Amino acid sequence: MAHHEIPLSKPDITDLEESLVLEVLRSGRLSIGPMQERFESLVAQRCGTTHAIACSSGTAGLHMVLIALGIGPGDEVITTPFSFIASSNAILYVGAKPVFVDICPTSLNANPELIEKAITPHTKAILAVEAFGNPKYFDEYAKIAAKHEIPLIEDSCEALGTIYKGHKAGSFGRAGVFGFYPNKQITTGEGGMVVTNDDHLADACRSLRNQGRAVAGRGSIQTGSAGGSWLHHERLGFNYRMSEINAALGVAQMQRLDELITARNDTANQYVERLLDVPDLILPTIDPECSVMSWFVFVVRLAAGYTREERDRVIAGLRMHDIGAGDYFPCIHLQPIYQRAMGFGEGNFPIAESVSQRTLALPFFAGMTTRDVEMVGQTLELMISRENLSRRG
Ligand SMILES: *Cc1c(COP(=O)(O)O)cnc(C)c1O
Repeated sequence: MAHHEIPLSKPDITDLEESLVLEVLRSGRLSIGPMQERFESLVAQRCGTTHAIACSSGTAGLHMVLIALGIGPGDEVITTPFSFIASSNAILYVGAKPVFVDICPTSLNANPELIEKAITPHTKAILAVEAFGNPKYFDEYAKIAAKHEIPLIEDSCEALGTIYKGHKAGSFGRAGVFGFYPNKQITTGEGGMVVTNDDHLADACRSLRNQGRAVAGRGSIQTGSAGGSWLHHERLGFNYRMSEINAALGVAQMQRLDELITARNDTANQYVERLLDVPDLILPTIDPECSVMSWFVFVVRLAAGYTREERDRVIAGLRMHDIGAGDYFPCIHLQPIYQRAMGFGEGNFPIAESVSQRTLALPFFAGMTTRDVEMVGQTLELMISRENLSRRG
């Protein structure tokens, strides 16, 4: 990755993170220990769920949830093509079929009406994603899932801390999954977390992450001793555990979550103020019923009619000025692996495609200065006006 003077994202690490990591290193216990339990209870508390199961990544969390729900070959899972590829890859891992539906052009989340239309006797779950942290429609997704008696899986990897219509992100469906890669609201370096109120699903995930070992009793540290020895395996599991070092980072970051969300909100507000009057630029729309918006990234969009090439030149122009920018998100169904394996092509999901070729992520992290925002605003404005001029010939 190129390093820019104003990067696309930057983790926010303080003395607190350092001291907790050091505490772990000095404790001699580097995996399956008290720090993981602390991290899990902080996340469960925050989401209002009875269980939180730490794991090695958000992707691993999604994989475990799908297995725990018994989803496999022949099953269909309805999901969005406008997301990070992991949300859909998890469906492929278990041999099921991702059934994409197009998105709503304002929230960028899957269109609930299309979800309902896509339900067949083979549909075993809805896997929905809060695009860039936007919680729009999650109450509706939950209603559709309940009506059809299928689980809603919430890929809440981009929405830790968001509250919508009184519900916390992660708690809308049967299970929610968070990811803690360094560009997320909080980071553990690498890591993930499953949250759920379902005891059986929670125990299945605790076993799956730990090589299929028996779970030693709810809430206790897994030693594997419940079902016999450490080398007793009840199901086909994985090593999807989180180390105590990563968990220590998570504990510190969770203790600072409100501070981080506030700082990110402040940056988002500065962007909105700075960019509101920039011609041909569409800003993110957040439903007023979202009482806490936890911003993942700040993604803007060029007006309808702009081409992918023009958008790509704007991104290149920002990078040339030492400003990080990204093409969030290319459509999943147009990724080479999906085109090849599932026969998708251009035109399958026209709204997602039209949005995707015009969106760009701007630098976004806690602690961005007013000067940073001004620099990005000025440069972006300049790049867009250049595209405009060259169009007029
Ligand atoms: C970040 C993210 C994930 C999980 O990513 P990991 O790198 O595996 O932790 C999954 N889905 C979405 C939508 C994400 O943004």
